[in-house]
Amino acid sequence: MAQEDVFKKIVSHCKEYGFVFPSSEIYDGLGAVYDYGQNGVELKNNIKQYWWQSMVLLHDNIVGIDSAIFMHPTIWKASGHVDAFNDPLIDNRDSKKRYRADVLIEDQIAKYDEKIAKEVAKAAKRFGESFDEAQFRSTNARVLEQQAKRDALHQRYSDAMNAGPDLNELRQIILDEEIVCPISGTKNWTEVRQFNLMFSTEMGSTADGAMKVYLRPETAQGIFVNYLNVQKTGRMKIPFGIAQIGKAFRNEIVARQFIFRMREFEQMEMQFFVKPGTELEWFKQWKETRLKWHKALGFGDDHYRYHDHEKLAHYANAATDIEFLMPFGFKEVEGIHSRTNFDLSQHEKFSGKSIKYFDPESNESYTPFVIETSIGVDRMFLSIICASYQEEQLENGESRVVLKLPAALAPVKLAVMPLVKKDGLPEKAREIVDSLKFHFNCRYDEKDSIGKRYRRQDAIGTPFCITVDHETLNDGCVTLRDRDTMKQERVAISDLCSLIEERVSIPSLLKRL
Ligand code: ATP
Repeated sequence: MAQEDVFKKIVSHCKEYGFVFPSSEIYDGLGAVYDYGQNGVELKNNIKQYWWQSMVLLHDNIVGIDSAIFMHPTIWKASGHVDAFNDPLIDNRDSKKRYRADVLIEDQIAKYDEKIAKEVAKAAKRFGESFDEAQFRSTNARVLEQQAKRDALHQRYSDAMNAGPDLNELRQIILDEEIVCPISGTKNWTEVRQFNLMFSTEMGSTADGAMKVYLRPETAQGIFVNYLNVQKTGRMKIPFGIAQIGKAFRNEIVARQFIFRMREFEQMEMQFFVKPGTELEWFKQWKETRLKWHKALGFGDDHYRYHDHEKLAHYANAATDIEFLMPFGFKEVEGIHSRTNFDLSQHEKFSGKSIKYFDPESNESYTPFVIETSIGVDRMFLSIICASYQEEQLENGESRVVLKLPAALAPVKLAVMPLVKKDGLPEKAREIVDSLKFHFNCRYDEKDSIGKRYRRQDAIGTPFCITVDHETLNDGCVTLRDRDTMKQERVAISDLCSLIEERVSIPSLLKRL
């Protein structure tokens, strides 16, 4: 099945099984805003818990905060967001659709890459085992021609972005490459304009002069402006980190790919404050630590790659993304940045307050350098759903859709099912739920055949189901069914709690780190 079709299926599965709904759906939705349903919120909470605990419980030098979404507007001036948090946009006059000029060009570069990949795949098929890809790439005329065009475009695009960006040049590239609007198919483009991504509103009554405030576009600044509060009250010694999970808002020009790019989303950010000069060592360490966190979920190492930034923001001295293989290619899920002392220095400058650390070991004061790890909860959610979604053909000729979620993240851990709705079996099943519900999320289900009930649980990724049958009343045992292997075993009710908890708890995941 084409990856596009798989993705469509995943999106409708998320809706059908109560994971993600379009926001305000009965009013025809609101662009790039989504709501999480009864199963989605559980999965999302588990992701957040996995992240939070890996930061705050596993490191005695990392603490958390929860800062407000509204902040003093000067913060966004100091951070550079008022002046520079822009995307270049372009409109097509015929379709009236708006695009990011940089994304149109990046898509064009990707098209050259696809053409080259197709040539390579075709040749690999033709030559079989004797195929030498490196040699083919360096000698085949068609590949060389496409590669040269691609590289020239890439260079021209980088130069344009580095020059401000140069908006006229971005438009010229779009015209020269003959990029058309995917809706109207025309090249009737407007000028390219800069568009600030921050949402703003007003605080206070207009009578005494309302103040323009912004909905934060990232959670990081809430950490920077609380650096001194936490360092002093927590008696924190450098190196130390501050973690935060919270909503962020960006007025994205083109919202695409479901919850990958939203206008209201959630971030999990940790700023790690270090001594100047040690930042690149810490950057390396956090790169490794964060990749390990991702890989512990067990989706396979081939699902991840680093993408080191060639073009660094003016305040950064190293940056990388952790990319995940989504059905639409490798995409950024997390960014790790060495941000120097840019943010703290800017806040010192704009607030007029000293934000220094006195190092008792070296007897000197300095503005700490910062390593940031920043991950989107929603993108993480999407990557997990995509990697877990599977359609399986069963031996009996039937098929099933199963979400092979890591057990510790699954919304429901155990479904308890009486074989029939009589003979005291429902009461026994309820009794089991009542004793286990304090330990993990259990669901009782007595409707339809056992087969159908299993399918429903498979579709939401429940790792275990137990069936209560007539024998249970005599021997105190139930049938435990494993979601992935579909194997069934007889286990004593008294063993259930320890058996399941061990496999579904967040600590079981944390212990792999
Ligand atoms: P992109 O290049 O995809 O716009 P970014 O580099 O601007 O992302 P950062 O500012 O580094 O992203 O934000 C850190 C993380 O926040 C990203 O890795 C991503 O997981 C998440 N994120 C950023 N923007 C969005 C969005 N519009 N919707 C959902 N998640 C987002």
